[in-house]
Amino acid sequence: MGGKCPHRSVKKRRYSHKTARRTKFLIKGDDMVYDQLNKADEERQPLPVDEDLPGMGQYYCLHCDRYFSNVAVRDEHFKTKKHKRRVKQMMGPAPHTQLDAELAAGMGMPDNGPKLMSM
Ligand SMILES: [Zn+2]
Repeated sequence: MGGKCPHRSVKKRRYSHKTARRTKFLIKGDDMVYDQLNKADEERQPLPVDEDLPGMGQYYCLHCDRYFSNVAVRDEHFKTKKHKRRVKQMMGPAPHTQLDAELAAGMGMPDNGPKLMSM
């Protein structure tokens, strides 16, 4: 027998500073990134220099909406699974939008709930 104690205390998850910072001003919604990517070819502009960003905002991963401090770090990032998954995701059908999120949360249109695995 065994298994986990059902009464184990619930751990409260606190955001790390990094996460909090990132969500504050770096991360855009997936739909926004997708938008950017779709118009990137025609409207590609030089990256604005921003002293507040790592590497003055010059090393940017459009797919992940992240800034890097130098080209080596960025190239390293391009090789990561996380990035590749992200690229794949952005190549595919449009990502979830705010509407989807609201639907999932039970707001807006009626929702039959998540599909359950048929037995
Ligand atoms: Zn990336």
